[in-house]
Amino acid sequence: MDTSKIFQHGTLGLLVPGLYDGTITAGELLKHGDTGIGTLDGLNGEVIILDGQAYQAREDGQVRQISATETLPFASVHFEAAQAGTPVSDLGQAAFQQQVQADNQLTNVFAAIRVDGSFKRVKTRVAPHQTKPYQTLVAATATQPEFEGTDVKGTIIGYFAPHLFQGATVGGFHLHFLSADHQLGGHLLDFEIDQAQLKVQKFADFQVHLPIDNADYLQEQFDNETIDSAINKAER
Ligand SMILES: [Zn+2]
Repeated sequence: MDTSKIFQHGTLGLLVPGLYDGTITAGELLKHGDTGIGTLDGLNGEVIILDGQAYQAREDGQVRQISATETLPFASVHFEAAQAGTPVSDLGQAAFQQQVQADNQLTNVFAAIRVDGSFKRVKTRVAPHQTKPYQTLVAATATQPEFEGTDVKGTIIGYFAPHLFQGATVGGFHLHFLSADHQLGGHLLDFEIDQAQLKVQKFADFQVHLPIDNADYLQEQFDNETIDSAINKAER
């Protein structure tokens, strides 16, 4: 088990013009990591992978387990390294992210961020399932359901990536959440930690696996500026 690399299928950039067809199975993805985030075929919700199990937070607010044959257009996974957590408490999202980035010197580093514990507030959103012909990411996520919880136990999982890699992935923090009771999940919009344990796992390697058998992917003319602006609108 290689704990020194992130395996990413697809790019965030390919979601921007609307390439939402799943191009890797969950079963194949989980061979490359036991922990991570992503989205399902058709931009169908938010994926949270914890301890080798993949879950979908759906737009109706339900959380369900993903089967091995379901497919994803985009996901990042890694194998968790064993490490002791660092206690964190009474921190809102902005202060948390500043502190984690500074304390771990993350600016130019890929890292997985995991926070297990109790949260005073959690606010998530879930991308709504798209049907063909697919809209762009900005249009598809212009209105999306948001979910909130107070006094929630659960786990934040996601990544920090250097801004140089914006487009390949999200530059900066990209965090998802799953509550311990599986009643609340999604892409994190806001949170306040009560008491939790933080784990930061740095990676020297970032492996990108591209859907080179997908005709739409092969034909797309990607535009970096459009991708950058769309990620800032849709993924933060
Ligand atoms: Zn997300």
